[in-house]
Amino acid sequence: MKKQLMNILICPFDKYADLDLIEFETNNSNVNSGILYCTKCIRYYPIINGIPIMVPDNQRNLIYEYNFLSKWTNKIPEKIKSNSMPFNINQIHSELS
Ligand SMILES: [Zn+2]
Repeated sequence: MKKQLMNILICPFDKYADLDLIEFETNNSNVNSGILYCTKCIRYYPIINGIPIMVPDNQRNLIYEYNFLSKWTNKIPEKIKSNSMPFNINQIHSELS
């Protein structure tokens, strides 16, 4: 995902435009792995293989995201882990690990 996309991406839930970008793996201006975080509705959206997964809650895939979140858990800020929708990341880890 090119970083310039941040200028046009909005949260699919509330259309909020001021998303936080947490980069896990970046090449030049391309984010390969990371998280987009909406500070308004506290939803996080994973960026997996360069693709931001910005879909409604009922289309989210917990198992797919769990593998991703497990890989990068040390790079996810605690404020997001403990305060995230549609899945609470800390809760996912305690229930599935
Ligand atoms: Zn939002």
